[in-house]
Amino acid sequence: MRKNLIIAIDGYSSCGKSTLAKALAKELGFIYIDSGAMYRAVTLYFIRNKVTIQDAEVVKQALKHIELNFHSRDYQSHITLNGEEVSEEIRQMPVSEKVSEVSANKQVRQEMVRQQQRMGKSKNIVMDGRDIGTTVFKDAQVKFFMTADPKLRAERRFNEMQSKGDTSITLEEVFENIAHRDYADTTRIESPLVRAEDAIIIDNTAITEAGQLDFALKKVRPLLT
Ligand code: C5P
Repeated sequence: MRKNLIIAIDGYSSCGKSTLAKALAKELGFIYIDSGAMYRAVTLYFIRNKVTIQDAEVVKQALKHIELNFHSRDYQSHITLNGEEVSEEIRQMPVSEKVSEVSANKQVRQEMVRQQQRMGKSKNIVMDGRDIGTTVFKDAQVKFFMTADPKLRAERRFNEMQSKGDTSITLEEVFENIAHRDYADTTRIESPLVRAEDAIIIDNTAITEAGQLDFALKKVRPLLT
């Protein structure tokens, strides 16, 4: 099998990008990289260490002290921040509320993109995020752009949080956070969320997980031989 096939999945918040990415990675034996988890882990570090995002020197120094690593178990991606497992904490509201501000920062983006490009060298990977097909891997062989009805996205995310025992947040708050992040991600100056011209759109409002996996596999499999 060829050894540098990149599948880029971009799209709005809580659209099912990671569900599709993980399923594809599992089916094809690819490495899955959740780029959003990296921005979330940096945000957690900034919150804990009270990093002033407006101060370029402070941000530069902070980035030097952040080491991120992925550990894949059963195709669920786990991320460590300076050796500490933070996969659960980065999904909670304090991080979700601040991540768009942190990810709009040019220095943060440059560093994350550098690390992401390194992770994709000579490997078969599926990476999901907001700028994978437009910035990180402009030459990715397959690009998907995912979208879904915002109300449905909020409901799915809310149910997911409830099932994990996080009952501190209402459906309206989840909806507001998703709307806010979509707005911030699409209007920022640095690598805004936009569909790459050659990305295939998947609107998963009315499509099952199995259906979207099937659709995506039909696009990828011909490239594997
Ligand atoms: O994918 P997820 O929703 O976990 O990403 C969290 C946030 O990280 C997004 O709302 C976005 O602001 C930022 N992000 C980004 N570029 C990426 C991935 C995520 O700016 N490639």
